Amino acid sequence: MPNYKLKKILSEMRDIGIETVPSSYLSLAGEGKKAQKKSSRDANDAQAASLDNAQESLLASASLEDVKAEYANCMMCPLGHARLNIVFGEGSPNARLMFIGEGPGFTEDHTGRPFIGRSGNLLTKIIQDGMKLKREDVYIANIVKCHPMKDPSSPEKHGNDRPPSPDEVEKCIVILRKQIASIRPEVICTLGAPAAKIMLNNTGGISAVRGKIFDISPLPEEPQYSVKLVPTFHPAYLLRNPPAKKTAWEDIKVVMSLLRL
Ligand code: SF4
Repeated sequence: MPNYKLKKILSEMRDIGIETVPSSYLSLAGEGKKAQKKSSRDANDAQAASLDNAQESLLASASLEDVKAEYANCMMCPLGHARLNIVFGEGSPNARLMFIGEGPGFTEDHTGRPFIGRSGNLLTKIIQDGMKLKREDVYIANIVKCHPMKDPSSPEKHGNDRPPSPDEVEKCIVILRKQIASIRPEVICTLGAPAAKIMLNNTGGISAVRGKIFDISPLPEEPQYSVKLVPTFHPAYLLRNPPAKKTAWEDIKVVMSLLRL
């Protein structure tokens, strides 16, 4: 059973007051299947430990709503002082696929929603027309949740975007990790070079990572959890360079095949 389904069932059980489950139940999880192939007692012990960890991790993950409430007034970094709205992210709490961009821009800051406006429309088109999913079926978020501005005193000014600083990323990525811990996506698709670099801890450009599938462990406190990551171009880049849409579609096809769509 995929972890996202297991998580949903555990979450429903927790909602009705059940806090523990037999390890035999959890043997349906991916980690359990692998461990079952080992025959020695040590392997069984390792399986039990792994399942206990999985159970604890899955049950301990805060809901998305809890995470959102926790950071509703976040001022952990200077971006909090200039923003009009926190752009937390939106989509299904049980999404199998997460899209992650770098940070909100002008329109997102004004509405509190990720990836809207022209580039957001293109992303929606990719999801709906290309992948045959609904936007609400996936989860869309950014590395930082507040609009990084060159001139923080002018949130109404267009063309005021800048990349987030490493310090801002370091502060805010805590929230993204909690979102990932809660959603447990099977695949993450990063949009644009900065998001790929940050998620992969890689210093190369998009050409160094595009066209590859990465296995990453995005939760430092839970290194056994791994997720596939597929980098692709940012929709804003695709609007500026329409020929790149063909290449991006190849990436999306990889994502679809990983999700067996
Ligand atoms: S960018 Fe992130 S860490 Fe900084 S204030 Fe906004 S929510 Fe908080």
